[in-house]
Formats: sequence, structure tokens, C-alpha cells
Amino acid sequence: MTEQAQRSDTIVSTDSEYIDVLVIGAGISGIGSAWHLQDKCPDKRYLILEARESIGGTWDLFRYPGIRSDSDMFTLGFNFKPWTDGKAIADGPSILSYLNETIAESGIDKHIRYQHRMTGAAWSSDDACWTVSAENTATGEHLSFRCGFLMMCSGYYNYQHGYLPEFKGRDRFQGEIVHPQFWPKSLDVTGKKIVVIGSGATAVTLIPELAKTAESVVMLQRSPTYMASLPDTDWIANLLRKVLPADLAYRIVRWKNIRFQHFIYNRTRTDPAGVRKKLLRMAKKELGPDCDFEKNFVPHYDPWDQRLCLVPNADFFHSVRDGKASVVTDQIDTFTEDGILLKSGDKLEADIIVTATGLELCVLADASFSVDGRDVNFPDTWSYKSMMFSGIPNLISTFGYINASWTLKADLTSEFACRLINHMDETGTRICVPELRDDDHDVPADDWIKDFSSGYIQRKIHLLPKQGDRAPWLNTQNYIADRKMIREGPLEDGVMQFWNPDAATDAHIESDAA
Ligand SMILES: Cc1cc2nc3c(=O)[nH]c(=O)nc-3n(C[C@H](O)[C@H](O)[C@H](O)COP(=O)(O)OP(=O)(O)OC[C@H]3O[C@@H](n4cnc5c(N)ncnc54)[C@H](O)[C@@H]3O)c2cc1C
Repeated sequence: MTEQAQRSDTIVSTDSEYIDVLVIGAGISGIGSAWHLQDKCPDKRYLILEARESIGGTWDLFRYPGIRSDSDMFTLGFNFKPWTDGKAIADGPSILSYLNETIAESGIDKHIRYQHRMTGAAWSSDDACWTVSAENTATGEHLSFRCGFLMMCSGYYNYQHGYLPEFKGRDRFQGEIVHPQFWPKSLDVTGKKIVVIGSGATAVTLIPELAKTAESVVMLQRSPTYMASLPDTDWIANLLRKVLPADLAYRIVRWKNIRFQHFIYNRTRTDPAGVRKKLLRMAKKELGPDCDFEKNFVPHYDPWDQRLCLVPNADFFHSVRDGKASVVTDQIDTFTEDGILLKSGDKLEADIIVTATGLELCVLADASFSVDGRDVNFPDTWSYKSMMFSGIPNLISTFGYINASWTLKADLTSEFACRLINHMDETGTRICVPELRDDDHDVPADDWIKDFSSGYIQRKIHLLPKQGDRAPWLNTQNYIADRKMIREGPLEDGVMQFWNPDAATDAHIESDAA
């Protein structure tokens, strides 16, 4: 058991104890929610259930060589805690220590119940509360918690397994097959021939790192991805920090980067050809003349129709240019004893095959939900401000942006939850639920995320809620629009219904919570 897991007994909650707010997950989103709750709803009792033995989620789970952010830390950092490290693109351990520092200095660590995996949640309108079932993964014990408000901060992918396509002949391969989600601590790549399957952020991060000691590293891709090179430091941030207080410098740089990301993303929508030309020119310049650029680096889609890969300091391009790594665009026919046979008939020799094939998306921790005895099927619900779901009371879920830093949305979501909770206190109501208005019944249903063809979303889009063509049923994927809609929009908007169970039940809950 880790030190964190051992420390987790500071706040004790007995089976089925009533807690005002239950938070699921202690990654960036859960920690952020806890901070905002402490700051804005100081009278509320909250508890975090975390399935793993430690905090950090993504930044603790992923341990492959070179693991780093692919967005800048001035926007991936919280809005309440300046990122003061010299690097704007940070490695995994630095992000994890930022998160550890956050929980220690704000006392959030005392509210975390480790090795508690939530498995389901049942809402009762009569009691105005969720009963959340959980398993203590250390002891196998089944527990339940009751809460007035449930905040799902469980991330967006399956922690037990990554996405792995069926590879013909997989069992024939005599070397080691590694998925980056579960990188073996003891794996020594020195002098090895490595094939990395995939061309997303993980492959682009890993390859320059592996290329430092491996005999050869090949990135095997079905089709090319857009890549943009940027320095891993932000000279404006480093300069401002020298002359301004850390907090002010952080706020300025954060806003600059939000605007810059927004501008670039908008350009990809309004002038895809122009952005495409610029990105390709940039990559070509870094790669030099000796590569088959057209085949390996020119994508068949428009920029930001899939995630754009960041290449800090052009490290990936330089590994290829210097002959330490190479790129092959082809399809796998079969794994063989000593490598991969491609559909073209070419063969790639390998001692290690890394399947950087992505994540397996999951929806609200894949837990089962019911409302007043009826099972919830999230694809039947409408997304309310991309945080709540039509017909589901007192439930908020955090899902960050696909085109900007996750934390921007996580902060907005927590702030909204706190506003909602305080509003309910002020108005003496205990239930809030978004319901379609009469004139919303003709809203056309659209995918929860539009115009984004990345595999991890497309494979599971049918499991996600719908979005409509008007507020508040939109999932804008636009931080600046969301800031206005989420921060400034009235809570009493004619969609969110506030009400109470009958008086007899009220008395029952109040005596429990006292
Ligand atoms: C390799 C990698 C790099 C990334 N880089 C970036 C980046 O640069 N910028 C960016 O914006 N985004 C990035 N992302 C997305 C990233 O996941 C988010 O930035 C962010 O870390 C998500 O935080 P989270 O707390 O919402 O989810 P997670 O980090 O996934 O944490 C969720 C937590 O919930 C816990 N949990 C899950 N289910 C349950 C349950 N049933 N019961 C109890 N606890 C549960 C998990 O154990 C975990 O601790 C990256 C993702 C990956 C995989």
C-alpha cells in the first residue's frame, strides 16, 4: 500500500453515511473540484473516492519514457494555483508533484478515500440523494455512501485496459509487446529494435526518448498525423515571472495562451487549407530533404479534425532527420516470430513492439446509474452545458476539451457546481435537474462531440449523450463561449428545475446529516 493510501483515514465515513458532496476520482478534475468546494462552499462536507492507491490519475498511471503534457501548463494548470516551473510543456513527474503540492497545501489529502472504486449510483427523489455503491479494492468490501450531490471526475478512459486492435499472428511474436498505458518499469530498450504502432501523441512522445538508446525505432502508421513544433519553454512567461508577482504573471500568460489556442483552432475551421500549408511547411523544414514527406507526413484530413500532435523543440522531427528513428506508412498483415509483415510485403524486424494504439473511452466510469428505480442510458439524455444530463438530478460530470487544455473546462465545471449548490442553499431547494422545455422537443440530436474523427471518440460516440443545436444543450468545445455560458448564464434559466421532496422526507435527511 502506498504512503498516500495509508494516510487516507483522516476523514472517516461509515457505511451509508450522508455526505453533502461526493467526488469520484482524484485526478486533475477531482482535485480541482475539491479545491473549489473548499473555497466556495466551505460549509459542505465532501469526500473523494479514488479507485487507485494514489492521486494524479493520468499523471500517475502513465509511466512510459518521456511522458509529458502536450498542452502548455499555463492552461493545463489550475486557475487557482500558478504553474511556476521553467518549462511550459512539463514531464509527467512534474505535473504529479504540482498535484501533490495542491492537495497537501489545501488539506484536500485528508478528504480522499483511496482504493475505493465506485460501481454504481442510484438516485431517490423522495430522499433527494444519491446512494453510491463502491468497492474497497484492498479488502473486497462493498460499501455505500449517500450524498446530496455527485461529482463525477473519473476521467474519460478505461484504467484497466487500453485500446488494442486485433493483430493477426500476435501470439507468434517472440519478443515483448508493450502497451504504453502499462509500461513495465524494468523494460530495457538499450540496443533493441523497436516498432511503435501508432502516430498519435503517445508515439510522438515516446519515439525520441526510445531513440536515445535503442538500435532502431520505427513508427508504423496507417496514415499520417498533423504535428506542430513549439519550444517547451515560454520566454514571455519566464520573463514576466522575473518582474511580476507569480500570480499575476500566471494569469497574463494563461490568458495569452487561451487566446492563442483559440485563434489557431478557429483558423483551422475558417481556413483549413492555409493552416494545413503552414503546418506542413513547418514539419518539412525540420525534417530536411531526405524523407518521403508526401507519404509519411501529409494527413488525409484537415487540421484539428483529429488531435494535433505537439512536437516540443522539434525532437521527434530531429530523431527522424538524424536517422535515429524512421516512419513507415503501411498496414499490418501479420505479426511474425521476429517482427511484423506488412501488407506491402515489406518486413519490420523487432525485439519490442509498442502498441501506441490509444485509449478505450468510457462514460462516467462505466458505472451503472438509476433515477428513481429506472436505469439511466446516457445516450438517451441531452447534454446540459456539457456538464449535466437531462432528467438526471444533482449530478455533474467533468469532461475537458479535445481542442484545448482539460483543466480549463474542469475549473469551469467545478465553479458551476459550487454556484448551483450555493443557489440551492439560498433558495432552500435540494433537487436540481435540467429538463427539456416545451419548445426544446424538436431539437435535432447531434453527436456529443462534432467534427472530430479521432478513433477513441468515434469508437464510443454511441455511448455518449446527445447535444442539440441551441444553448444550453450544446457541447461547444469552445472555452471562451463556455466561460460566458457557464459562468455568466443565469442558473434559473427555465431549463434547470429546482424543487424539494415532500416535507416528511426532508426531516429524515436533515437529522441524518446533522
Ligand atoms: C498520456 C496522456 C497525456 C495527456 N496529455 C494531456 C495534455 O497535455 N493536456 C490536456 O489537456 N489533456 C491531456 N490528457 C488528457 C488528461 O487525461 C487530462 O488532462 C486530465 O489529466 C484528466 O484529468 P481527470 O482527473 O479528469 O481524469 P484522470 O486523470 O483520468 O483521473 C481520473 C481519476 O478517477 C479515478 N477513477 C476512475 N474511475 C473511478 C471509479 N469508478 N471510482 C473511483 N475512482 C475512479 C481514476 O483512478 C483516476 O485517478 C492526456 C491524457 C493522456 C492519457
